[in-house]
Amino acid sequence: MNWSKNLHIWIILGLVLGLGYGILSASMGWGQFTQNWISPFGDIFLNALFMIAVPLVLGSIITGIASLSDTRKLARIGGKTIAIYIGTTVAALVIGLILVNTIRPGDTVPDEVRTQLQSDWGDSAEMRMESAESAEERGPLQAFVDMVPRNIASAASNNRNMLQVVLIAVLFGISLLLIPSDKAKPLLRVFDSLTAAVIKLVEIIMWIAPIGVFALLADTVSLISQDNMSELWSLLGALGFYMLVVILGLIVHVTITYGSIIQFLTPLGIKKFITGIAPAQLVAFSTSSSGATLPVTMDRAENKLGVSEEVSSFVLPLGATINMDGTALYQAVAAVFIAQTLGIALGFMDQLEIILLAVLASIGTAAVPSAGIIMLIIILQSIGVPATGIALILGVDRILDMCRTVCNVTGDATVATVVASSEGQLKTE
Ligand code: ASP
Repeated sequence: MNWSKNLHIWIILGLVLGLGYGILSASMGWGQFTQNWISPFGDIFLNALFMIAVPLVLGSIITGIASLSDTRKLARIGGKTIAIYIGTTVAALVIGLILVNTIRPGDTVPDEVRTQLQSDWGDSAEMRMESAESAEERGPLQAFVDMVPRNIASAASNNRNMLQVVLIAVLFGISLLLIPSDKAKPLLRVFDSLTAAVIKLVEIIMWIAPIGVFALLADTVSLISQDNMSELWSLLGALGFYMLVVILGLIVHVTITYGSIIQFLTPLGIKKFITGIAPAQLVAFSTSSSGATLPVTMDRAENKLGVSEEVSSFVLPLGATINMDGTALYQAVAAVFIAQTLGIALGFMDQLEIILLAVLASIGTAAVPSAGIIMLIIILQSIGVPATGIALILGVDRILDMCRTVCNVTGDATVATVVASSEGQLKTE
């Protein structure tokens, strides 16, 4: 069997076995063994992906922009990309809000379950609120100030600063485009070869993807269940409706919104799109990080979907950083669910405010696990719902994080495909 051609089958196998092993480990109380002997393989895979994220973003955006013939082309592709990113995020939010207001999962949570969840997860909620407070105490324009780093090396030293790295790369790319080409060439060649080497590295790292995915899944199940499967089942039972609404919303958004974009606005066809992008979706599911998945998304978009390097190297790193439809949808559903459970009525204007805030929050959310919940706290505070309410949903957040990250990554790939197609830069054999 051709390993790389059937990569997604191997990854699915790793995922299913990891899930099975995780459940077994939790039921048998093997948590410590799993932590010591299985989880490190997941960490190795995750670290390897994170390790190449910064050089990949820098190299690919700089060469991507500098290879555009002029700044007008950059403005056209950039404008189109950002407009579609925001448009699809708003569509995701509308889907989420319609579902949560129709199904009303918060109405089905019994009072004693609510009290129990609040006491079980109150401490964790406090910790997240502290991180959110430091984010909120800053002025309204602080987000823009934070985008501009004082020091290139320190920006590149933290994967949470990806927005800063994107900005550095965009500015460098533009400057290279504006200086005489004989001056630009030497540096461009360096970045070009850096990008090529990093892309090769992705292929090498993907060799261990099935093992990495197995270990990540086993670790996640073992951590969520804390060696107590029965408690996990009762948690899933109590929050089942809420989870169902988030997952249903994600499925509707991926199949209808992205499905129709691919079907009607590109020549690719849904089947080819799904088989091309599936390994990236599986890595997103197991790592819960669109940043860590970025190298795989770029590799698949270029080599399997036929997106040109020029488009993918600009659209995908930008998307991994600012485009998070799954996160926005989840934030809207979670905010309304918490309000429903606490008996707080949210009017039409509150829901409009959720749309606006969630679009901004999803742009500011770092592409790492659990980042979405910190921004959710800020949304809750703005619409007057007590932020301690996140205690209600923390227990199942990791599971939903895995699902929303798949949607985030699929959204980036969809937009890269449609932008490439509109620019005549989508290779279809
Ligand atoms: N984990 C998500 C991502 O990396 C962000 C979030 O919603 O927490 O795309």
